[in-house]
Amino acid sequence: MQKITDSPIDFAEEIIEDVKNSKEEGVLKCVQCGMCTSTCPAALHSDYNPRDIIERVLDGDVSIIEDDCIWNCFYCYTCHSVCPVGNSVCEVNQILKQFAIKNEIGHDKLYEYMGFADSYFTAAIGAIPEIFFKDIDRDVPGWWDFRLHLDEIRKELDLNPPLMPSKEVIDEVSKILTITGFKDKIETIRSTQEDKNESNSR
Ligand code: SF4
Ligand code: SF4
Repeated sequence: MQKITDSPIDFAEEIIEDVKNSKEEGVLKCVQCGMCTSTCPAALHSDYNPRDIIERVLDGDVSIIEDDCIWNCFYCYTCHSVCPVGNSVCEVNQILKQFAIKNEIGHDKLYEYMGFADSYFTAAIGAIPEIFFKDIDRDVPGWWDFRLHLDEIRKELDLNPPLMPSKEVIDEVSKILTITGFKDKIETIRSTQEDKNESNSR
Protein backbone atom coordinates (compact mmCIF):
# COMPACT_ATOMS: atom_id res chain seq x y z
CA MET A 1 0.00 0.00 0.00
CA GLN A 2 1.46 3.37 -0.97
CA LYS A 3 1.53 6.07 1.67
CA ILE A 4 0.62 9.13 -0.38
CA THR A 5 -1.68 8.75 -3.39
CA ASP A 6 -0.49 10.07 -6.79
CA SER A 7 -3.37 12.50 -6.72
CA PRO A 8 -4.01 13.29 -3.02
CA ILE A 9 -7.52 14.57 -3.71
CA ASP A 10 -8.54 11.08 -4.96
CA PHE A 11 -8.55 9.79 -1.39
CA ALA A 12 -10.79 12.62 -0.19
CA GLU A 13 -13.06 12.11 -3.23
CA GLU A 14 -13.41 8.42 -2.36
CA ILE A 15 -14.54 9.41 1.13
CA ILE A 16 -16.96 12.04 -0.18
CA GLU A 17 -18.57 9.52 -2.52
CA ASP A 18 -19.08 6.96 0.24
CA VAL A 19 -22.70 6.36 1.16
CA LYS A 20 -21.94 7.17 4.82
CA ASN A 21 -20.78 10.67 3.99
CA SER A 22 -23.79 12.92 4.49
CA LYS A 23 -22.23 16.31 3.90
CA GLU A 24 -21.28 17.40 0.41
CA GLU A 25 -17.57 17.99 0.05
CA GLY A 26 -17.20 18.93 3.72
CA VAL A 27 -13.81 17.29 3.79
CA LEU A 28 -12.51 19.57 1.04
CA LYS A 29 -13.68 22.67 2.93
CA CYS A 30 -11.65 21.95 6.08
CA VAL A 31 -9.70 25.06 7.10
CA GLN A 32 -7.64 23.22 9.75
CA CYS A 33 -9.00 25.47 12.48
CA GLY A 34 -8.70 22.71 15.11
CA MET A 35 -12.16 23.28 16.63
CA CYS A 36 -12.82 19.54 16.31
CA THR A 37 -9.65 18.68 18.21
CA SER A 38 -10.29 21.20 20.96
CA THR A 39 -13.71 19.67 21.73
CA CYS A 40 -13.04 15.97 21.00
CA PRO A 41 -13.15 13.77 24.14
CA ALA A 42 -10.94 11.15 22.47
CA ALA A 43 -8.30 13.84 21.79
CA LEU A 44 -8.47 14.89 25.43
CA HIS A 45 -7.61 11.40 26.64
CA SER A 46 -5.23 10.11 23.95
CA ASP A 47 -2.88 11.14 21.13
CA TYR A 48 -5.80 11.03 18.72
CA ASN A 49 -6.29 14.28 16.77
CA PRO A 50 -9.33 14.77 14.48
CA ARG A 51 -7.84 17.83 12.76
CA ASP A 52 -4.82 15.69 11.90
CA ILE A 53 -7.12 12.98 10.48
CA ILE A 54 -8.51 15.44 7.94
CA GLU A 55 -5.06 16.84 7.13
CA ARG A 56 -3.82 13.33 6.35
CA VAL A 57 -6.88 12.56 4.25
CA LEU A 58 -6.32 15.77 2.24
CA ASP A 59 -2.66 14.82 1.83
CA GLY A 60 -3.82 11.52 0.33
CA ASP A 61 -2.12 9.64 3.16
CA VAL A 62 -3.75 6.25 2.65
CA SER A 63 -1.66 4.74 5.45
CA ILE A 64 -4.06 6.37 7.91
CA ILE A 65 -6.27 3.29 7.67
CA GLU A 66 -3.43 1.29 9.25
CA ASP A 67 -3.06 3.76 12.10
CA ASP A 68 -4.47 2.64 15.44
CA CYS A 69 -5.57 6.21 16.17
CA ILE A 70 -8.71 5.98 14.00
CA TRP A 71 -10.12 3.43 16.46
CA ASN A 72 -10.05 5.99 19.29
CA CYS A 73 -13.03 7.87 17.84
CA PHE A 74 -16.25 6.61 19.42
CA TYR A 75 -18.77 8.57 17.33
CA CYS A 76 -19.95 11.15 19.85
CA TYR A 77 -20.46 13.64 16.96
CA THR A 78 -19.07 16.60 18.96
CA CYS A 79 -16.68 17.45 16.09
CA HIS A 80 -19.60 17.22 13.68
CA SER A 81 -21.57 19.81 15.68
CA VAL A 82 -18.77 22.39 16.02
CA CYS A 83 -17.10 22.35 12.60
CA PRO A 84 -17.51 25.82 11.04
CA VAL A 85 -17.51 24.47 7.46
CA GLY A 86 -19.88 21.54 7.91
CA ASN A 87 -17.29 18.79 7.88
CA SER A 88 -17.71 15.69 10.03
CA VAL A 89 -14.57 13.94 11.21
CA CYS A 90 -16.94 11.49 12.86
CA GLU A 91 -18.30 10.34 9.50
CA VAL A 92 -14.86 10.40 7.90
CA ASN A 93 -13.66 8.06 10.64
CA GLN A 94 -16.55 5.69 10.03
CA ILE A 95 -15.58 5.52 6.36
CA LEU A 96 -11.85 5.10 7.14
CA LYS A 97 -12.69 2.22 9.46
CA GLN A 98 -14.72 0.53 6.72
CA PHE A 99 -11.75 0.92 4.33
CA ALA A 100 -9.56 -0.63 7.05
CA ILE A 101 -11.96 -3.54 7.61
CA LYS A 102 -12.10 -4.26 3.86
CA ASN A 103 -8.30 -4.45 3.91
CA GLU A 104 -8.38 -6.87 6.88
CA ILE A 105 -7.07 -4.18 9.23
CA GLY A 106 -8.47 -3.58 12.72
CA HIS A 107 -10.32 -6.88 13.00
CA ASP A 108 -8.71 -7.28 16.43
CA LYS A 109 -10.48 -4.07 17.51
CA LEU A 110 -13.85 -5.44 16.43
CA TYR A 111 -13.47 -9.02 17.56
CA GLU A 112 -14.56 -8.38 21.16
CA TYR A 113 -17.74 -6.73 19.87
CA MET A 114 -18.82 -9.66 17.70
CA GLY A 115 -21.34 -10.59 20.40
CA PHE A 116 -23.02 -7.25 19.71
CA ALA A 117 -23.34 -8.13 16.01
CA ASP A 118 -24.59 -11.64 16.83
CA SER A 119 -27.38 -10.24 18.98
CA TYR A 120 -29.06 -8.75 15.89
CA PHE A 121 -29.58 -12.34 14.68
CA THR A 122 -30.77 -13.70 18.01
CA ALA A 123 -32.76 -10.72 19.32
CA ALA A 124 -33.10 -8.24 16.39
CA ILE A 125 -31.51 -5.57 18.57
CA GLY A 126 -27.98 -4.66 19.59
CA ALA A 127 -27.10 -6.08 23.00
CA ILE A 128 -24.06 -5.71 25.23
CA PRO A 129 -21.65 -8.59 24.55
CA GLU A 130 -21.61 -11.09 27.42
CA ILE A 131 -17.88 -10.62 28.02
CA PHE A 132 -18.59 -7.11 29.32
CA PHE A 133 -21.24 -8.19 31.89
CA LYS A 134 -18.73 -8.61 34.71
CA ASP A 135 -17.22 -5.16 34.09
CA ILE A 136 -20.64 -3.49 34.04
CA ASP A 137 -21.68 -5.18 37.27
CA ARG A 138 -18.42 -4.05 38.86
CA ASP A 139 -18.99 -0.42 37.74
CA VAL A 140 -22.76 -0.42 38.33
CA PRO A 141 -23.31 -2.66 41.38
CA GLY A 142 -26.59 -4.57 41.13
CA TRP A 143 -26.82 -4.22 37.35
CA TRP A 144 -26.67 -7.99 36.70
CA ASP A 145 -29.35 -8.72 39.29
CA PHE A 146 -31.55 -6.01 37.72
CA ARG A 147 -30.91 -7.48 34.23
CA LEU A 148 -31.81 -10.99 35.40
CA HIS A 149 -35.12 -9.83 36.86
CA LEU A 150 -36.01 -7.28 34.22
CA ASP A 151 -39.01 -9.20 32.90
CA GLU A 152 -40.48 -9.57 36.42
CA ILE A 153 -39.93 -5.85 37.12
CA ARG A 154 -41.63 -4.92 33.85
CA LYS A 155 -44.56 -7.21 34.64
CA GLU A 156 -44.88 -5.66 38.10
CA LEU A 157 -44.92 -2.19 36.54
CA ASP A 158 -47.48 -3.35 33.97
CA LEU A 159 -45.15 -2.44 31.12
CA ASN A 160 -46.30 -3.81 27.77
CA PRO A 161 -45.64 -4.98 25.10
CA PRO A 162 -42.73 -7.36 25.89
CA LEU A 163 -39.26 -5.88 25.71
CA MET A 164 -37.91 -8.38 23.22
CA PRO A 165 -39.03 -8.42 19.58
CA SER A 166 -41.18 -11.34 18.39
CA LYS A 167 -39.75 -14.35 16.55
CA GLU A 168 -41.22 -13.01 13.27
CA VAL A 169 -39.35 -9.73 13.72
CA ILE A 170 -36.11 -11.53 14.60
CA ASP A 171 -36.44 -13.74 11.49
CA GLU A 172 -37.12 -10.74 9.28
CA VAL A 173 -34.16 -8.76 10.64
CA SER A 174 -31.91 -11.82 10.22
CA LYS A 175 -33.00 -12.14 6.59
CA ILE A 176 -32.27 -8.46 5.90
CA LEU A 177 -28.84 -8.69 7.54
CA THR A 178 -28.01 -11.79 5.52
CA ILE A 179 -29.17 -10.39 2.18
CA THR A 180 -27.34 -7.08 2.69
CA GLY A 181 -24.04 -8.85 3.44
CA PHE A 182 -23.78 -8.00 7.15
CA LYS A 183 -23.64 -11.68 8.11
CA ASP A 184 -20.82 -12.41 5.66
CA LYS A 185 -18.92 -9.39 6.95
CA ILE A 186 -19.01 -10.43 10.59
CA GLU A 187 -18.12 -14.01 9.68
CA THR A 188 -15.10 -12.76 7.73
CA ILE A 189 -13.97 -10.55 10.62
CA ARG A 190 -14.41 -13.41 13.10
CA SER A 191 -12.59 -16.01 11.00
CA THR A 192 -9.65 -13.78 9.98
CA GLN A 193 -9.10 -12.73 13.60
CA GLU A 194 -9.39 -16.31 14.89
CA ASP A 195 -6.85 -17.44 12.27
CA LYS A 196 -4.48 -14.67 13.41
CA ASN A 197 -4.98 -15.56 17.07
CA GLU A 198 -4.23 -19.20 16.31
CA SER A 199 -1.07 -18.47 14.35
CA ASN A 200 0.13 -16.07 17.10
CA SER A 201 -0.33 -18.76 19.74
CA ARG A 202 1.88 -21.25 17.86
S1 SF4 B 1 -13.39 21.81 12.91
FE1 SF4 B 1 -13.82 21.38 10.76
S2 SF4 B 1 -12.65 22.91 9.63
FE2 SF4 B 1 -11.83 22.87 11.71
S3 SF4 B 1 -10.11 21.40 11.59
FE3 SF4 B 1 -11.91 20.27 12.25
S4 SF4 B 1 -12.78 19.42 10.36
FE4 SF4 B 1 -11.37 21.08 9.78
S1 SF4 C 1 -16.99 11.79 16.92
FE1 SF4 C 1 -14.90 11.02 17.20
S2 SF4 C 1 -13.59 12.61 16.35
FE2 SF4 C 1 -15.59 13.52 16.69
S3 SF4 C 1 -15.48 14.48 18.70
FE3 SF4 C 1 -16.34 12.41 18.98
S4 SF4 C 1 -14.58 11.06 19.40
FE4 SF4 C 1 -13.79 13.00 18.56
